Amino acid sequence: MPDRVYLDNSATTPVAPEVFDAMRPYFDSAYGNASSLHAFGREARRAVEESRATIAEFLHVLPEEIVFTSGATEADNLAILGSAYAPGRSGGHIVSTKIEHHAVLHSVDWLTSHGFEATLLDVDATGHVDPDQVRAALRKDTFLVSVIAGSNEIGTLEPIAEIGAICRERRIAFHTDAVQAFGKIDLPTPSVDLLSASAHKLHGPKGVGLLVVRKKTRISPTMHGGGHERGRRSGTENVPGIVGFAAATRLAAREHDEVVARMRRFRARLMEAVASIPGTRLNGHPTDSLPHIVNFSFQGIEGESLVMRLDEQGIAASTGSACSSPDLEPSHVLVAIGVPLSMAHGSLRISTGRQTTDADIDRLLDVLPRVVKDLRDLSPFKVGEATCTPSE
Ligand SMILES: *Cc1c(COP(=O)(O)O)cnc(C)c1O
Repeated sequence: MPDRVYLDNSATTPVAPEVFDAMRPYFDSAYGNASSLHAFGREARRAVEESRATIAEFLHVLPEEIVFTSGATEADNLAILGSAYAPGRSGGHIVSTKIEHHAVLHSVDWLTSHGFEATLLDVDATGHVDPDQVRAALRKDTFLVSVIAGSNEIGTLEPIAEIGAICRERRIAFHTDAVQAFGKIDLPTPSVDLLSASAHKLHGPKGVGLLVVRKKTRISPTMHGGGHERGRRSGTENVPGIVGFAAATRLAAREHDEVVARMRRFRARLMEAVASIPGTRLNGHPTDSLPHIVNFSFQGIEGESLVMRLDEQGIAASTGSACSSPDLEPSHVLVAIGVPLSMAHGSLRISTGRQTTDADIDRLLDVLPRVVKDLRDLSPFKVGEATCTPSE
């Protein structure tokens, strides 16, 4: 879609051309099953292990500490359910936060309906988790702490190294969902026991992710079968996907400084421009943030209508009020940072990628003030009739 502007890179990103090129042979010529003994299998195995080594080096972990999965939803489930059902454990307590991705929150919910207990921590008005609150929430039977590295909705970065140090002191496993942070910030992997990432948020393919499981961290598998991934995740390896994940990681490392500097510049431009529209607010932290995500609220309008109007103008963005429930609950993250309801319904998340240009930002800023004014003129604040689209 050539004339369209894509500013929803936290939902997914286009596969980079060099990533696509790296993957292609593993579909139609080197298509062996990585478990097979013959040459086709050995070639696939070599590709998987080279990819694993590439990503391990990038994350400063050992190759055998990486478990490939079908994506970060599975990685989050494996971290949380796998820790809960680790050999020898029966019941116990988890600490997490109110701003996690649903892959974490709903896994924790599922456990609490199956005899486990959980504490979900509040965050401050910018979305920060307080490490002292993490410490205070720990109990004798706490076996896992899970805190997102950088919010997929508002971009706020969490003090992962500090929280990790607290967990280490108490010998409690620490998981972080680093999907949005991977490739954008320096991840403090030495302070983490379990870490989730996903290729498609990084200009890699959909359907492949990973969980880092540090050496001494005990988990049970959630997929049972042929014993792939050292028994931690059965299922035939997604060879092209894994190769694509490694290619996307290499690309992110190579162009990190340049891309991230550009993203920061776009974010600053957007913050400045939106601040000049009356009745707006920034959701998240002005500076302690992922570079590619910025979230605003517009008083008196509905996020869904805003997204639809922008779409009509050829601009793809997302709303944080994505109604995952029929009664139009605003996003749990916006509620957690205390955005007033009238504002929480009118939220807009803009997220940039490596392909985003100044011209894309110009296009948005050309259209946005007018669309906001039109929507405000049109109606007193109306709630209803919105269609639901999951926004990751
Ligand atoms: C997208 C996303 C996920 C889910 O990843 P998938 O690979 O799409 O399953 C989990 N956590 C965060 C923070 C995300 O942004």
